[in-house]
Amino acid sequence: MTKIKEKILNANFKKIPRCFIVIVFIYLLAGGILGVMAVKTQLSEIISLKEKGAVYLEENKNKDEVYEEYSKKKDKEKHHSQKEEWKNILKTQITPLSFNSKIILVIILGIGHILMLVYWILISAWLYQAADKAKMRKNLWAAVGLIGNILAVILFISVRDYIRIKCSHCDEWQKKNQFCIKCGSSFNKECPSCHSIVAQSEKYCGFCGTSLIENDNLNN
Ligand SMILES: [Zn+2]
Ligand SMILES: [Zn+2]
Repeated sequence: MTKIKEKILNANFKKIPRCFIVIVFIYLLAGGILGVMAVKTQLSEIISLKEKGAVYLEENKNKDEVYEEYSKKKDKEKHHSQKEEWKNILKTQITPLSFNSKIILVIILGIGHILMLVYWILISAWLYQAADKAKMRKNLWAAVGLIGNILAVILFISVRDYIRIKCSHCDEWQKKNQFCIKCGSSFNKECPSCHSIVAQSEKYCGFCGTSLIENDNLNN
């Protein structure tokens, strides 16, 4: 367990999502083609059945007897949902799936579920690492990730940005403060005009509107 935790903390989450997207793309492409091939016979049967059904209705529309009988049958089946009707058609008029086709479909669905699970765990693993970097409770955030997934990521980023600051010089996350606890650089600067303390990243003073870019350039 400690080894797994160490691996997650050192994982490269810039590379992993790209690899994962490529794998999912290949899966969708190959799975789609194989899936259609596996149910090719059944698909063409359903299509021709639909066409035949339409022809049957058109031909018999004027033959009252047949149409009436058809209508009665329809009334009887009214409480049946369309889904069940389809189930019946599939059972009686479509060639059953061959063993090989079934195996292929089960494998495709199985891989799909595994990919979904991997995605879910990756989100949680990223949260574990990000929370550790931001000196927040990593176990808690990993657990929140398992429950909330992408919502947990949004929540985490909101909370982190509210209570933590990242040093632009050394990338160290820390409690919001005046100076970086790792490299000592200041998070704030002083407005040369009104001497208010403003954030390092601000381009104009929020108190008096003096441009802080020009001053940076002048100082350099
Ligand atoms: Zn720093
Ligand atoms: Zn100012």
